[in-house]
Amino acid sequence: MAKPLTLEKYSFGVGDRFAHQAQAQLRACMMAAERGAEVIPVWNKSNREHLTIGSEPAGTRTAADKAVQALGWQKSYHVDADHIRLETVDRFLPHSDFYTIDVADWIGKAVEAGSAGGFADRHSELAGRILIPGIEQPFQTTRAEVERIAGKYLSAVEEAGKIYRRIVEAKGKGNFITEVSMDETDRPQTPPELLIILAALADEGVPLQTIAPKFTGRFNKGVDYVGDLARFEREFNEDLAVIAFAVKQYGLPANLKLSLHSGSDKFSLYGPVRWGLARFGTGVHVKTAGTTWLEEIIGLAEAGGSGLALAQEIYAGALEHVDELCAPYASVIDIDRTKLPSATTVNTWSAEQFVSALRHDPGNKAFNPHLRQLLHVGYKIAAKMGERYLEALRAHADCISRNVTANLYERHLKPLFLDKK
Ligand SMILES: [Zn+2]
Repeated sequence: MAKPLTLEKYSFGVGDRFAHQAQAQLRACMMAAERGAEVIPVWNKSNREHLTIGSEPAGTRTAADKAVQALGWQKSYHVDADHIRLETVDRFLPHSDFYTIDVADWIGKAVEAGSAGGFADRHSELAGRILIPGIEQPFQTTRAEVERIAGKYLSAVEEAGKIYRRIVEAKGKGNFITEVSMDETDRPQTPPELLIILAALADEGVPLQTIAPKFTGRFNKGVDYVGDLARFEREFNEDLAVIAFAVKQYGLPANLKLSLHSGSDKFSLYGPVRWGLARFGTGVHVKTAGTTWLEEIIGLAEAGGSGLALAQEIYAGALEHVDELCAPYASVIDIDRTKLPSATTVNTWSAEQFVSALRHDPGNKAFNPHLRQLLHVGYKIAAKMGERYLEALRAHADCISRNVTANLYERHLKPLFLDKK
């Protein structure tokens, strides 16, 4: 068999909801490459985003291919069928070479009698004292504990197996990259749980190259991390140690790495992430999506005139539909509605006032994370505008693409992959 398609050490997921920013996004990776960091772009779009926008997976592939060709990018790139399930994977099969198998909804579902016990019997090495290189305190578990944790996750693991095998049927083994995601759930997975999940995925024959657990703390869309930073750092390092251990112990792909979802704008985490990667000599996948859409609004506003007017109109529309827009994202946003300015107020704003409120510059007193989160989930309003919105993107392409590139490079790739401290 040919060498399996392998995800590179550092990869960065970008979302391009309206399929107009692929070049601007790729330019950020080129800037990182020029300065010595090879970060592979992965264009991701979930079924939910496609449904909201009314787009097709073929469009994501075309936009990525075109950008790569136009800019002469010689390194690899991938197109990620993001957060797919058994019932949504099919339409992505001809277009994606990266699959994020989302099994969060299967966590805690009942499994066949005896299968958790069978897992615990098969994996006696997981009970007792487990010494993992890089973790100071050995894990201390019992057989009953292993069985309980297996009972919680086996149904999700079995579902991952089903979806993986469906993709194999269509694309052939080794022709795509597999990620397993469990982040869209209420409770974080602890490092000992991650070890059991990985052992079970290995048993199930899923050769995953990245895994997206739910970490401790809040990963709200488009704004910084909210939570106990020291605890996140400890957990992140333990997860890295668990992965290195599981790769050896269970024969998982050697490049298996963590995937950080809702990874955009988590500025306070990038230092701890970078130190952890250096310590373990390992890679990471960081997934972002909506941060680029927000730069489209920033670019429109910055352009002034009709661009600013459109940005104001989108805000007014988002405010009017706040309940409907926020509902599907409840676990990943925290909006204090009393901090949202009225549409009348925003309509009086200058380009500078609008940009200051929206751009993620925590040092700017005018920055408003509530307005930013509302607009983050408000892309449906722009989607409803249809051609009128796309025309505005083309009319203000220079201003927008400058913001898209700068946001990804300055605020994301640089602190994650290039800073030395
Ligand atoms: Zn996710």
